Amino acid sequence: EQDVVDYRNSLAIRVSGFDVPRPVKTFEDCGFSPQLMNAISKQGYEKPTPIQCQAFPIVLSGSDIIGIAKTGSGKTASFVLPMIVHIMDQPELEKEEGPIGVICAPTRELAHQIYLESKKFAKSHGIRVSAVYGGMSKLDQFKELKSGCEIVVATPGRLIDMLKMKALTMLRATYLVLDEADRMFDLGFEPQIRSIVGQIRPDRQTLLFSATMPRRVEKLAREILSDPVRVTVGEVGM
Ligand code: ADP
Ligand code: MG
Repeated sequence: EQDVVDYRNSLAIRVSGFDVPRPVKTFEDCGFSPQLMNAISKQGYEKPTPIQCQAFPIVLSGSDIIGIAKTGSGKTASFVLPMIVHIMDQPELEKEEGPIGVICAPTRELAHQIYLESKKFAKSHGIRVSAVYGGMSKLDQFKELKSGCEIVVATPGRLIDMLKMKALTMLRATYLVLDEADRMFDLGFEPQIRSIVGQIRPDRQTLLFSATMPRRVEKLAREILSDPVRVTVGEVGM
């Protein structure tokens, strides 16, 4: 309807895909738990940023998403908050182990930032987050992963090392995020990303976020996402 079109225009949001849900206006519109709402207000977040307004309802509906918005636009929370909901929705299966949410980022600094942001929201539900990136002892990381977690934030190379060491399994992983996909490409991580994706069940939900969308990232996205909804905020370079 026209009011949805006007609202998207006012936030500089463009969407493509099938049956795209209308963007939310407030965190209350998302149906987040009281614990999560508390954690959000503790962060001082008063209302969702434009990418969050459109990404939340898409991701909460279970769709794959390509989210393109410039640095500093709040992309992290747009995948972290629905990931908490996704994890809390999983049935408890005693025999299954390994992370439910897997987030890949190009550098240890970025992985660490996402780790910190995830922990703030995860702890409200007793969800455990592990960080897996270079510069930390592999043995310590191995032990931490063995002790169990629901979310892993990783750089691709170190995650593959940990998978080879059988520090974790991907049997339970159903929510995969590729953050800063353009930079992962620039850093030559395409083979590692493909290897990780190949180890996660095909019925997963896959989210890809990027500040720019060069053609080779577009091509990868077409191969590993299923009927993604695409959201662009503002003017974005190629
Ligand atoms: P991006 O990944 O798009 O570069 P970030 O997720 O790192 O952006 O967010 C940039 C900054 O905005 C961070 O400091 C984050 O805590 C803050 N932020 C995210 N969402 C909100 C919000 N809804 N309200 C206020 N600040 C927010
Ligand atoms: Mg980011």
